[in-house]
Formats: sequence, structure tokens, C-alpha cells
Amino acid sequence: MLEKIVIANRGEIALRILRACRELDIKTVAIHSEADRDLKHVRLADESVCIGPAASAASYLHVPAIISAAEVCDAQAIHPGYGFLSENADFAERVEQSGFVFIGPRPETIRLMGDKITAIEAMKAAGVPTVPGSDGPLDDNDERTLSLANDIGYPVIVKAAGGGGGRGMRVVHSEASLLNSISLTRAEAGAAFGNETLYMEKYLENPRHVEFQVLADTHGNAIHLGERDCSMQRRHQKVVEEAPAPGITDEVRQKIGERCAEACRQIGYRGAGTFEFLYEDGEFYFIEMNTRVQVEHPVTEMITGVDIVREQLLIASGEPLHYTQDDIKVRGHAVECRINAEDPTNFMPCPGDISQLHVPGGPGVRVDTHLYNGYRVPQYYDSMIGKLIAHGENRDVAIARMRTALSEMVIDGIKTNIPLHTEIMADSNFVAGGMNIHYLEKKLGL
Ligand code: ADP
Repeated sequence: MLEKIVIANRGEIALRILRACRELDIKTVAIHSEADRDLKHVRLADESVCIGPAASAASYLHVPAIISAAEVCDAQAIHPGYGFLSENADFAERVEQSGFVFIGPRPETIRLMGDKITAIEAMKAAGVPTVPGSDGPLDDNDERTLSLANDIGYPVIVKAAGGGGGRGMRVVHSEASLLNSISLTRAEAGAAFGNETLYMEKYLENPRHVEFQVLADTHGNAIHLGERDCSMQRRHQKVVEEAPAPGITDEVRQKIGERCAEACRQIGYRGAGTFEFLYEDGEFYFIEMNTRVQVEHPVTEMITGVDIVREQLLIASGEPLHYTQDDIKVRGHAVECRINAEDPTNFMPCPGDISQLHVPGGPGVRVDTHLYNGYRVPQYYDSMIGKLIAHGENRDVAIARMRTALSEMVIDGIKTNIPLHTEIMADSNFVAGGMNIHYLEKKLGL
């Protein structure tokens, strides 16, 4: 069993990891930037090390500083959380070469899944449904590319194999603009990701975002924890998530979930992961895999009772999974609102001092946040300051609890997007369920 780990992240997820460690009697080292000395988990950790200035490049992304901190504190493993270095295969490799356990998949797996073309190939081999497309990179034969697009059928989407964060892709509606769009995307991909490789897919016009959570150990076992619906998005950023996804039957859940678990077995996956799909007209289309814990993991925890972060730590300790697929049952429904420090009208980040904080409670309500009275939200990082999660025996109860929780939540001193969440929870189409990924932006008039 691991005895001491470095938490290489900040904010709510760092606190989440710290809590799981405490339950398992694992000692924690909080590494932090100069701007983050007052983070809640830094105060609660067994040890803390300041690894650099506020700028992420000089601290949370500074690999030698993180490894040195692990060496100095004599830790055994590093948990990367989400964002920052969590999906960086070179970092995972450095961690392991330095003699530490990387709490996540093997570096080769991160690399395989980080290249979208190899990821899609691996998924196809495991029987996971993918988007009809070029089945590999586009070459420089224009004739072939044009006829490929005709076969797929317009609109198509041209995507960078090394892309991420919603960048490096372009939708093409007709043959006239295909070749030009390809050369523009290629140049952008080369500049942004250092990789000009492109591929092409059918563009799905009104899909939902539905993703499957998996867990895999180092003994060849893999299970799925069902799916989440994360279609409420703004600029490809998830705003509200829920589990299970409205309208997905248990039969379909087991079928797609088992394909994902099988893919994990085939690629020798290790740890927690998420298979992201677009879902349209009853069909699933794999788009990418996230090889880390996700922001929205609590909704799955609420409906399955599985502590995903605890499982990550146990898997990294070499233990076999504590659950079989049959142990996993979906109970009720959970909704999560991402609380951001931002102006609810123009979405501008709004850092500052928290003058007053009251968090909601009651049955089925969970608050994952690092905020406390008097805490100053720094300007340097992502604006997400917490997550409000509500669980109930069905979707209506979960939403009603979320409304109540939102109405009780007080965060004074800064602006937050709580008013936006209140509006979404009152929206009749959201309440009906199953809206597609464009719905929120349309509702907001964007
Ligand atoms: P990234 O790694 O940049 O997040 P993804 O492949 O996950 O890239 O795609 C990001 C978003 O782009 C998706 O959530 C979806 O909104 C849109 N998208 C990607 N591929 C398609 C497609 N084939 N059809 C329609 N929309 C797509």
C-alpha cells in the first residue's frame, strides 16, 4: 500500500485527493505555487512544498520541480489530478523513470490515447463504435481526399491528430471549401501542436455528449461505472453534468460499457478513465479517451457508491479492483453544477476575496470546494471554484434538490455563475432532459 504521495494539483481536486488519502492513511505532500500558500489542502496536508511562482509554467507544469519535491519528501507516488500534467505522457514517463508511481495509466497508454488517430484505431479493434471517417491520416492526394469526403457525406469535420481543448478542428459543409480548410487546419495544427497530421470524420449536427467511466487494475480486470451526460456546454466547456444519461436503457449501458471495459483490457489500461462519445439518433460514436480523473466524476460516485479517487489510489498500490461488474448498480440520479468565479452575464473571470461563504446541505447534497471564509481566489488559474452535486431517487428529485441547494449557497465578495445554474435548473427543456450540445449556447443567445 502507498504510504506517502505528492498531490500535483490545486483547488478542489487537490482537496478531493487529500481526503481520499486520509481515509486510506496515506500521507500527503501538497506542492503549490507562491500564489497558493493559502489553499485549503496545503493547510491540511502532512507536508507542503512551494515549487515556484504563480505562473503555471513555472510551478504546476514545471516537471523538475515536482520530481524534486517528491524526492525531497521521500514520497512514493504522484497524483496529477486533472488538467495541468495529468495527460502528459512525457511527464508520466519522467515520474516512473525517477522511481515513482504515476497515479494514472502507463505512459505508453497516455501516448496511444493522446494521438486521436491511434486512439480511434485501438477503439475500433475493441469493437467500440467510432464516427465514420478517414480511418487514418489524410495524405496529400487531393483526389483521394475529395472522394473520401464524398463517401463520408457532408458536412465533415477535419481534425488534428494531436489536437485538444476543442482546438485544431474545422467543419466543412461543401466540396468547394474542403481543400482550403484542410490546408488552414494543417498549418494551425503544426503551429499549435507541433503535429500536422489530420484526419476527417462525419460531422454530427445535433449530438449529445455521453461518456463512460471505467476503472482498470494491474491484474487485467476492468469494469465500467455507467455513463454521464455532459451536453450542457458553453464553448466546449462542460457547465452541468448528470448521471445516468437521460433515455439510456440499462441494456444499452451494459453493451457500450462492456465494450469500453474490453478496450481497457486490450490496451492494458490502468486506473480511472473516461470514454467520450457523441450520441445521436440512438447511436454512440467514440471521439476520445480521457486518461485521468474528470471534474464530473462525483455524479458517477453518487449513483454507484464507488469512490473513484480511492480506487485510483488502491489500483496504484497494486491492489485488484474491489468490485466486479455485477456489483455496480445505478441508484437514482445525480446532477452537478460547476461553480465558477465569473460574471454570469459576460463570463469574464472574477477573482477576489471571499467575504462570506455559506454552503448548502441536506439529503443527497454534496459540495466539493476548496473555498473558505476569507480565502482569496487568485487570478492565475482556471475559474472553477467548486462543484455542487445533488443526488435523488430520480432525476426530478435530484433537480429539485439542486434548486434548493443553489438557493442556499452564498458566496459573497466575488461574482459567480450561480445565477446561470439557477436559470438552467428552471429551464423546461433541461428539466425534460436529453438536450444536445448546442442547446445551452442557443438558450444564452450565443
Ligand atoms: P478535444 O480533444 O479538443 O476536446 P474532441 O475530439 O473531444 O476534441 O472534440 C471536442 C468537441 O468538438 C466535441 O465535444 C464536439 O462538440 C465537437 N466534435 C468533435 N468531433 C465531432 C464530430 N465528428 N461531429 C460533431 N462534433 C464534433
